[in-house]
Amino acid sequence: MAAPLTMAKSRDGRSASREIFVVSIHKVRDRAGGLPYRWLPYGVEHAWEPGNRRTLCGEWICGWTVFWDRPFSTRRAASCPACVEATLPAESRRRLDPVGRRKE
Ligand SMILES: [Zn+2]
Repeated sequence: MAAPLTMAKSRDGRSASREIFVVSIHKVRDRAGGLPYRWLPYGVEHAWEPGNRRTLCGEWICGWTVFWDRPFSTRRAASCPACVEATLPAESRRRLDPVGRRKE
């Protein structure tokens, strides 16, 4: 049967106050998905918020690839632990000194 094709909506179950995307140094073609091959991050996936020059863990993203169709997920195995930590609410972050030592 021909089910109507609907674009997967972004899961906005929880408050999407911040849009955080995956950025990575390396990328590979996703050959599992068929043509046209999409780019996929290869290696560590860092979190990046538009407008910044650094990842949430403080890496400069100059020359890195931004995956605009790939929201950062804290549950992906490849996600950078420091970036995951940075996406958490401040209360849970305080126990681990944040990398960026930002002044508030
Ligand atoms: Zn990171």
